[in-house]
Amino acid sequence: MANSKHQHETALSIVVPCYNEEEVLPETSRRLAALLDRLIEDDLVTSGSRVYFVDDGSADRTWELIESQSQADPRFQGIKLTRNHGHQNALLAGLFTVPGDLIVSIDADLQDDIEVIIDMVKRAHAGDDIVFGVRQAREKDTMSKRVTAQMFYKLMRRMGVDLIYNHADYRLMSRQAIEILKDFPEINLFLRGLIPLIGLKTSVVEYDREERFAGESKYPLRRQISLALNGITSFSVTPLRMITTLGLVMFLISTALGLWAIWLRLATDAVVPGWASITVPIFLLGGVQLLALGTIGEYLAKTYMETKRRPRFLIETTTQKSSDGQAST
Ligand code: UDP
Ligand code: MG
Repeated sequence: MANSKHQHETALSIVVPCYNEEEVLPETSRRLAALLDRLIEDDLVTSGSRVYFVDDGSADRTWELIESQSQADPRFQGIKLTRNHGHQNALLAGLFTVPGDLIVSIDADLQDDIEVIIDMVKRAHAGDDIVFGVRQAREKDTMSKRVTAQMFYKLMRRMGVDLIYNHADYRLMSRQAIEILKDFPEINLFLRGLIPLIGLKTSVVEYDREERFAGESKYPLRRQISLALNGITSFSVTPLRMITTLGLVMFLISTALGLWAIWLRLATDAVVPGWASITVPIFLLGGVQLLALGTIGEYLAKTYMETKRRPRFLIETTTQKSSDGQAST
């Protein structure tokens, strides 16, 4: 798809979701501008290539920075969401609204080596539709981040969700891949699981993950757990199946137990079993039942949210509009 055009006619759009990123934005823009210059100079993309910052309802000066940035340099554009929609939805808002033949998504905090974008674009010119950025090493991540990330990928694999190991949301997609992604209507977004389902010609580029340039992670443990749960319940029915298995095992055990009790009564004159044999199973079964109900509830809640068909993101304004002079913010 991408290689059907001449290289210098390929417009690149870089989508950067930003949530309270005032500390990193100036540096991020500086580096991305330098990168764009190089790409244009090497004739890999057109001079009409742009960086699109998606402000995910930031409470700090992120949007003001984006606006002044776009006034100073038209290669920077902004999309402002009405409120905080979460990383995945902010990303989707960017992917679905920006023009361009090749679309790269990258975090605002410069943790992912932006040089890799050059390789991604070259691969796209060679015919790849999706190029996944994969972290080679995580030494620069904090210990807890590394451990939780490891657990996350292992758990997902266990649950049968096909993820690309150590790939987050740093990737290049062709226009065709984006158009296909629009046919996935799910509200419970987990792009990392979704995009491998697109198919087309894909490849992987590796890089070393850096430390966050400034500011702090917008993914505290609570959000990481919620992302993992969302990923599992959006892509896998394994937890539901585990409940069935658990139920079956409990049934078999209690049947055996019942038979044993009958045998005890008929064939021996053993003492009356103590209260433990009654209370323990009550608590155990109570716990198992609550767990099972909760899991079913998780899926039911997902179905409920999907049936509402609510919009996945809401755009308040864009810099494009204000620079055209049609609307001001
Ligand atoms: N982000 C966002 N909305 C949110 C949370 C995060 O758009 O509700 C953005 C954030 O600005 C950053 C990216 O998503 O560009 C990844 O967040 P972060 O770097 O904090 O996550 P981590 O690298 O720690 O997993
Ligand atoms: Mg980060």
